Amino acid sequence: MSGTAVTDATRKRTHRCGELRAADAGATVVLQGWVNRRRDLGGLVFMDVRDRTGMTQVVIEPESAAAFAAASECRSEYVVSVTGTVRLRPEGQRLATSGTGTVEVLADGVDILATSKTPPFLVDGSIDADDVNEELRLRYRYLDLRRPAALEPLLLRHRVTKAIWDFLDGRGFVQVETPLLTLSTPEGARDFVVPARAEAGSFYALPQSPQLFKQMLMMSGVDRYFQVARCFRDEDLRADRQPDFTQLDIEMSFVDQEDILSLNEELMAHVVAAATGASVPAPFERLSYRDAMDRFGSDKPDLRFGLELADVTDTFAGSDFRGFASAVAAGGAVKLLHLDADTAAGISRKVLDELESHAKRHGAGGLAWLRRAEDGGDGTAADASGATFSGPVAKFMSQQETQALARHATRQGDLLLMVAAAWPTACTALGAVRLELARRLGLVTDPDELRFLWVVDFPLLERADDGSFTYMHHPFTRPVDADLPLLDSDPGAVRAHAYDLVLNGNEVGGGSLRIHRLDVQQRMFKALGFTEAAARERFGFFLDALAFGAPPHGGIAWGLDRLVMLLAKVDSIRDTIAFPKNQRGGDPLTGAPSRLDPAQLADLGLSVRAGDTLGGGTSGGDTAAGGERSDGA
Ligand code: ASP
Repeated sequence: MSGTAVTDATRKRTHRCGELRAADAGATVVLQGWVNRRRDLGGLVFMDVRDRTGMTQVVIEPESAAAFAAASECRSEYVVSVTGTVRLRPEGQRLATSGTGTVEVLADGVDILATSKTPPFLVDGSIDADDVNEELRLRYRYLDLRRPAALEPLLLRHRVTKAIWDFLDGRGFVQVETPLLTLSTPEGARDFVVPARAEAGSFYALPQSPQLFKQMLMMSGVDRYFQVARCFRDEDLRADRQPDFTQLDIEMSFVDQEDILSLNEELMAHVVAAATGASVPAPFERLSYRDAMDRFGSDKPDLRFGLELADVTDTFAGSDFRGFASAVAAGGAVKLLHLDADTAAGISRKVLDELESHAKRHGAGGLAWLRRAEDGGDGTAADASGATFSGPVAKFMSQQETQALARHATRQGDLLLMVAAAWPTACTALGAVRLELARRLGLVTDPDELRFLWVVDFPLLERADDGSFTYMHHPFTRPVDADLPLLDSDPGAVRAHAYDLVLNGNEVGGGSLRIHRLDVQQRMFKALGFTEAAARERFGFFLDALAFGAPPHGGIAWGLDRLVMLLAKVDSIRDTIAFPKNQRGGDPLTGAPSRLDPAQLADLGLSVRAGDTLGGGTSGGDTAAGGERSDGA
């Protein structure tokens, strides 16, 4: 490769590639890094040499014959060591915008430390991630991360984690690691499992969260715990989900809900300031779960814009309009979204159809719309007596209903969008329309706004599809003491000491006070439909622990990937993870998941059913889903 080497390759770099400034002019320096770009101007070679900190322009003149020969061999992504003298760029070529833009290094030695194949995509900082297929970027993630924009979220993530450690350490928290090979922990997803070789047919589960361990640490007297913990959930993947992800996990003893919320507000303000420089006003706003759903159609409402939902259920009790009346008769709700005439003017029939499809994807049977046709009455907005509406359902509205609706749509051209369904569905479907409208109408105007919010007062339980009760957070959430008698008689009415932390419409954290009394935990399991034997079988170890004196305790977990995604203003949590999985849960870089060879399977006492299609998550043909389809032998 390099008969042309002229510098001593063992010489250490004197500067990073982003460090040199005008004041360094005259200094002899050694830079090492990647060739970002080489421009051969016949008599002169220019190379931008890049590392994590930035780039420096290097000039190689033919007079330095050996250096010139080496530089002529260089291609993009070669790794080089350059010795030379810093000088100011000629006037007129100084770029004040970039850090090193006023200087260049006149090389007297260029040493090629490693060559590179032509990269499958340009790593140049001017390349936008969207210009390159994501699968390709993930397959060559080590190249992708050479792009400053790709690396930045990881650097921000580092600052976030460091700020967390600093703050919590200062508050007496102890970092404790909990096992990865463990027993199933219920967080509502499917477990990833790992076969246990020593006990064929037995499996470890990877933790969905360290929930039970952190609670047992409280029982150990650790008092204040945290961990930046890896968690594993085998669930349907979405843009902001990964099968393995990271939580900031926190647990505290002898505290009430206020203690936890205020500590988290301080911690978040510290983290955001340390990682981004932005200041976050505390205390955070709070909304009850009921209000969040009612007003914004979401349990993680985005409060950066208004567009609140109204409730017109009462208007349609006993209505002739069957679509609405039947939902109300079944105990459901009719939710309404009002757009003023100016905003609504741009909403065509086609857009309304698209909004309806959106509502349907979120569970609604349809999206009814009405446009106020005339002011009617005495011509004032307040007089609704002569109001009329246009729209497919207008003809089904009684006079009374029309007038009631006209109080929401006070001006000609105002638009009403309505969903009638069971209350949670009506809220969430219209809430989804609200978000879609905000996206289309550009209602979020300040890209830097960080709108934090606590959603509190969650119900303890919710109805599952089969009508039984299931936990809303997890089975260890503490019911409000006063509601305990309702656990048997009216489980759906029991309130929980639970809270979610929301940022700009994303859930970035969730937690609760925990049950610390054995009898309450047993009643909770009963309400969830566990027989005593089943509870014992699954959680016996934990029930045992509760019998030995547990302090009142509670905590929270932050979704670290998602928080970093929002702070870094990137579109996907994949951008915040060094080596993420793709949207099918596969790793395009390593090819994981993969098949085991027969000897490994035999070792584990496993066999894979012949004929099972093993659909891998990666695009490579030879990859396969693992454990879940394996039979215990
Ligand atoms: N373990 C819970 C979760 O992963 C968080 C908590 O309750 O602290 O969502």
